[in-house]
Amino acid sequence: MVANARDLKKAKKDIQQAAEIIRRGGLVAFPTETVYGLGANAFSAPAVERIFRAKGRPGDNPLIVHISGGEGLGELVSEVPQNFRLLAEKYWPGPLTMVLPKGLRVPREVTAGLDTVALRMPQHPVALALIRTARLPIAAPSANLSGRPSPTTAEHVLEDLAGRIQFLLDGGPCTVGLESTVLDLTHKVPLLLRPGGVTLEQLQETLGEVQVLDSMEFKDEAPPSPGLKYRHYAPRAPMFLVEGEPSRVVKEIQKICRENRLKGRRVGLLVTEENRAYFRAEAIEVLGFRSSPEEMASRLFDSLRRLDTAGVDLILAETFEKTGMGLALMNRLCRAAQNRIIKAR
Ligand code: AMP
Ligand code: MG
Repeated sequence: MVANARDLKKAKKDIQQAAEIIRRGGLVAFPTETVYGLGANAFSAPAVERIFRAKGRPGDNPLIVHISGGEGLGELVSEVPQNFRLLAEKYWPGPLTMVLPKGLRVPREVTAGLDTVALRMPQHPVALALIRTARLPIAAPSANLSGRPSPTTAEHVLEDLAGRIQFLLDGGPCTVGLESTVLDLTHKVPLLLRPGGVTLEQLQETLGEVQVLDSMEFKDEAPPSPGLKYRHYAPRAPMFLVEGEPSRVVKEIQKICRENRLKGRRVGLLVTEENRAYFRAEAIEVLGFRSSPEEMASRLFDSLRRLDTAGVDLILAETFEKTGMGLALMNRLCRAAQNRIIKAR
């Protein structure tokens, strides 16, 4: 069942019903400010196993546990470092996930056998209301089929999971549109595992030194965050990033478009508002203005899905500076493109 939860007051009954499903061990898809989540009772191993089955998610890729406040923290983690308090005060609720030593009550299914657990307090009113009403922490990965771009609307969730979930709360489009920042606090120097809505610069301002993981270094050998080894965010068509001096990038994309059109191939583009007028292609997705990486990030996953729907044979994308939200944007683009980069000369 799909419930309209755009107006929190009107959605009270639906949130109660969704919370009841969580309490009984079922699955509920719900909006957060980052992407839609597929949630289950984080204390129940069988409930959590249902998430993995519904998504086709590999069992060794752990889930993020979503909470609505500090109560019950002692059951979830075995240690609360000072950095955690600092960051929670500043960035929770918000798009920051922190990895901490795991508490006894968290089943190994949630953490994929690791002795750490990932925690986040989301900023979306529907997500917070659901967690509070269920009176349980909710384990939730993104509500997409494993490997597909994360869902940023209720329609995306249905595209992937219709028939596999019991309840979907439709809270409208997600505002951040990329998954949360994941920060591992179990090392001496905090380790950024995944860039996201809370930027590296913000973390450095609060913590001083932060180590950054280069996710592309880990292909098959054990990576520090299990999720890193899997194909992610991938559109169906092969995707390439075109980088270099701006005017050269435009020329290179034009050239590749021409060559492929001659061969009868359909080309899809992911470009900026500034450059859209220079291009002709079978499908063009405009992410937004280069000056607003936040806006471009919020459109990325929807654009990737739209290019899939357009049935293109190949996708070309512009690249961006890796500062602020640009770091998270480039991280997802690189992974969607499986690190295929064309240098414009
Ligand atoms: P998703 O919810 O689909 O965005 O995936 C959650 C991400 O958090 C994955 O990349 C996981 O590998 C990562 N993650 C979850 N728990 C842990 C943990 N205990 N240690 C390191 N990474 C984690
Ligand atoms: Mg995911």
